[in-house]
Amino acid sequence: MKNFDIIIIGGGHNGLVAASYLSKKGKKVLVVEKNEKVGGLAEYSNSLNCISPIIKKELNINVAKVNKINNIISLEDNQNHTVLEDNNGKLSFLHTMADEDDQQKFISIINNYKLFSKTLGSFMFQKPPRVKSGKKSDLLQLISMGWKIRKLGKKNMRELLRIIGLNIADDLEDNLNDNNLMGLLSHEAVLGTNLGPRSPGSILTLLYKQAINDNIFNLKKIEVVEYINQLEDCCNKHKVEIIKSSEVKKILTQNYSVTGIQLTNGEVFESKYVLSNADPKTTYLNLLGAEILDTDFIRRAKNFRNKGNVAKLELVLENEININNIDKNIYGKFIYAPSIKYIEHAFNANKYNKYSENPCLEFYINQNTLSANVYYVPYLLNSNHEKNEIIKKCVSILSKFIPEMKIAKEKLITPNQMAEKYNITGGHWHHGDLEIDQLLMMRPFYGSAQYSTPIDGLYLCSAGTHPGGGLTGINGFNAAKKVIEDFK
Ligand SMILES: Cc1cc2nc3c(=O)[nH]c(=O)nc-3n(C[C@H](O)[C@H](O)[C@H](O)COP(=O)(O)OP(=O)(O)OC[C@H]3O[C@@H](n4cnc5c(N)ncnc54)[C@H](O)[C@@H]3O)c2cc1C
Repeated sequence: MKNFDIIIIGGGHNGLVAASYLSKKGKKVLVVEKNEKVGGLAEYSNSLNCISPIIKKELNINVAKVNKINNIISLEDNQNHTVLEDNNGKLSFLHTMADEDDQQKFISIINNYKLFSKTLGSFMFQKPPRVKSGKKSDLLQLISMGWKIRKLGKKNMRELLRIIGLNIADDLEDNLNDNNLMGLLSHEAVLGTNLGPRSPGSILTLLYKQAINDNIFNLKKIEVVEYINQLEDCCNKHKVEIIKSSEVKKILTQNYSVTGIQLTNGEVFESKYVLSNADPKTTYLNLLGAEILDTDFIRRAKNFRNKGNVAKLELVLENEININNIDKNIYGKFIYAPSIKYIEHAFNANKYNKYSENPCLEFYINQNTLSANVYYVPYLLNSNHEKNEIIKKCVSILSKFIPEMKIAKEKLITPNQMAEKYNITGGHWHHGDLEIDQLLMMRPFYGSAQYSTPIDGLYLCSAGTHPGGGLTGINGFNAAKKVIEDFK
């Protein structure tokens, strides 16, 4: 039987970051990945804005930037699209129908949000404090978090506390008139979450996503595939053993301590430390098993909300794709979410577990291919998606902007398919909703929020932990640091 210092279940980008970091610290690490390729959900990501400078430096990641994708194009049925340029986080309008006053207010709202998200950003690289631990370190960390908010100054702190529970629609409607601009910002706030623009907390999700990505519009600046390849190279360089096409069936324990893992083919690997890159529900309820956990803990695990609602559409056209009224030189991230009302209507269907008649789209174009996030397409418990219907709806929207749509190939991947391929309960972008009761020291839920678990030697490192999803690798990085702290 093979023995390792640390075993990581899952080769998603967080699993790879954790493996790289731990092996660099001299640990003998095994990664077991269910699929034939590592990278996990990153397969569906279009955009990767920046990798955290800390992770880049520590893991020596050196991914070349892709150029010319600094623009955000918010499509409008009347073909008067809004085009924004993002120059290292500084936004300016290249084209818009919004008046001067709205343009200025839009930029000023974003700058305000940026200020608040910077404060939240300073919590991202920390293990969240344990509220009732009675430990001095946790208390100091809580005080430091409070102090960072207080440092915003009286006026800004009050404003942050005012908007944190608000819905984005209210804040935008109080300040702006232009529907397209309001739709654009609302879209950023709700994409990948289970919220509509009128859901309380949708400003917080925007601030939080902005804090994770260090940018309000998560643009494509780096090739995701190259990032994953470099992480895998980093693991290989530090002698991490990666076993692909192998699924972990069970986390093995004795007296509430981890002893190893068992694969579905019966093979057993031993280790006193196991990090799970699977989502929290899968880890606790399927891999560990509820029988070893106390009932209140199981209740909290079951209540963790993680219904995914983003599908992926891949289209290949016979011809090169042209968008009406947009010069090819300024192509970038395209968004079709033309107003708050439009998004809220799309969200209404999601509430009743139906896909939207008029979905929102976010897409990138590369010559004759188009790759889009389609939402809301909810994860369905007891029925199948009518994929052809959804594709038809998307094509009908796209054909308003793409004059010639001769489709050579089409493929829609639903949250159910993502869930099945990567073992993610609910097929959720962030492995679980980013809402106030599932953030920071409450992520994924109280009693499981510091990467460690009630079982000695078992840790979580997926997007379901603090700070949430995206491709930053911070979860893997923070979890690995916690394991190193505890390693005996
Ligand atoms: C449609 C879609 C589009 C997205 N687009 C973007 C984007 O543009 N930009 C962005 O920043 N983020 C995007 N995201 C979010 C981002 O991709 C995820 O948050 C991130 O990839 C999660 O990484 P992870 O390593 O925590 O988990 P995952 O990527 O889910 O990795 C978990 C890994 O564990 C493996 N695994 C699970 N169970 C087992 C088991 N029992 N045995 C062995 N292996 C197992 C899985 O196969 C998987 O490889 C998108 C997500 C979706 C769904």
